[in-house]
Amino acid sequence: MNVLIFGPNGSGKGTQGSLLKKKFNLAHIESGAIFREHIKNGTELGKKAKEYIDKGELVPDEITIPMVLETLKKQGKDGWLLDGFPRNIEQAKKLWEALQEEGMKLDLVVEIKLDRETAKKRIMGRRICENDPNHPNNIYIDAIKPIGDRCRICGGVLKIRSDDQDEAAINKRHDIYYDTKTGTLAAAYYFKKLAEEGKTKYIEVDGSRDIETIKQELLSKIEAALK
Ligand code: AMP
Repeated sequence: MNVLIFGPNGSGKGTQGSLLKKKFNLAHIESGAIFREHIKNGTELGKKAKEYIDKGELVPDEITIPMVLETLKKQGKDGWLLDGFPRNIEQAKKLWEALQEEGMKLDLVVEIKLDRETAKKRIMGRRICENDPNHPNNIYIDAIKPIGDRCRICGGVLKIRSDDQDEAAINKRHDIYYDTKTGTLAAAYYFKKLAEEGKTKYIEVDGSRDIETIKQELLSKIEAALK
């Protein structure tokens, strides 16, 4: 199965994406993670990308599009979950073209919907447990509020990710995401239109609820869509 996942930073896209990846045994192809790997390894591509990433801007399409499409061809033979790409309308068109050329099917497009204010609060309230980054803690979400200043699951020390507190960078990322003319939502709606033409399936889930509720809704909608 080949899947695209959309959702603003703070919507739980990463969490739901990991669950889908495990359940359907998909190669998780995450553009942001590929960039981070390049930066860690000090490659030329990594050096170029870092300038943009640090400012919360998109890495130019000339760098991003070939990099992602190549990874998809190499690692995506037995099913993939593409996460973080496409992020604008141009990337969406290029992806669709490449899929046609490769004879790859796009089975499903998932959009996790969340309003901008809530998404921002979620990012800024996020606290990372030193013992396990998968212990969810957020000072703004009652269901996963830390206990005092400690992890609600294991009592571990909580840290703040520095980029989670950079309001200007969060706003910039959200400006790109919520742009329905040329940005990420425009890319999502490009696929929604293809779904209306019967070329793929498009699923929308409400990202404002807790992880388990979203997961259940997502799985039942996937099951219905793939019938
Ligand atoms: P993420 O981990 O998805 O938040 O990505 C981190 C950063 O990598 C983004 O803020 C962008 O600077 C860059 N990036 C990731 N995916 C793309 C993409 N599809 N197009 C351009 N830049 C991207």
